[in-house]
Amino acid sequence: MFITRFAPSPTGYLHRGHAFSALTAHEAARAAGGRFVLRIEDIDATRSRPEFETAIYEDLGWLGLAWDVPVRRQSEHLDDYHASLAALATSGLIYRCFRTRKDIAEDIGRAPHGAMDAWRGAALPAEEEAQRLAAGEPYAWRLSLDAAETALGGRPLTFREEGHGPNGEHGLITADPALGGDVVLARKDVGVAYHLAVVVDDALQGVTHVIRGQDLFEATHVQRLLQALLDLPTPIYRHHRLLTGADGKRFAKRDKAQTLRDLRAHGVTPEALRREMGFD
Ligand code: GLU
Repeated sequence: MFITRFAPSPTGYLHRGHAFSALTAHEAARAAGGRFVLRIEDIDATRSRPEFETAIYEDLGWLGLAWDVPVRRQSEHLDDYHASLAALATSGLIYRCFRTRKDIAEDIGRAPHGAMDAWRGAALPAEEEAQRLAAGEPYAWRLSLDAAETALGGRPLTFREEGHGPNGEHGLITADPALGGDVVLARKDVGVAYHLAVVVDDALQGVTHVIRGQDLFEATHVQRLLQALLDLPTPIYRHHRLLTGADGKRFAKRDKAQTLRDLRAHGVTPEALRREMGFD
């Protein structure tokens, strides 16, 4: 069974770019006789707002999309993410990192731009860690690439790209998680971060095809690694092009004038929008 998803974060109103993504996934599910599921990625409680979530349902309904219910809201499933985090901790694949982004930038010093993304750290000696925990210092759980490489024992990880990455990547791709460094998988306060929640949910929702924008292509490398470490299936990926505005820049949440509700208020019909984007 073909199952794909649309996974917006309720941190702003949906814009044309989201409409294109949702329509692409919905159309693929329809063509394959499969299912289209919606997931609300609301783990960041400081930025997620109920009115944006309500607007997601309104806007997608206005576009003419239908989705399977119940909708999965990440904030209601923190136990699932904690279970995966605990499994990674038991295997020694994550460590508590007390360094801030600023500390890491200082560690790297004058290293070339981008080195920060490839940063790797390590667990503190047990005694120092215990002291910092007792002092209530904030920390993040980071994935240890060193430990992950040891666990994999040189086994290459691949994923199938049926769309295109930003540099034309297509076909069988060898994942290179080292590009992203020791990513944060959870924060002391939030409890889970994007990459972990996405791979756990894609598996639990039985997603066979991840259809999303090319801006998330790079994220696939570390997500593929997490799938291997957590023994989860790897979906097929279809990254699609990003829509750009008249200025050639891609649509973003800050472009207020391009929200779907604004287009609707200006009399744009869903039929016209679908046609403009190349659907039906
Ligand atoms: N929630 C993410 C976003 O709104 C999408 C995650 C994904 O498709 O993997 O950008």
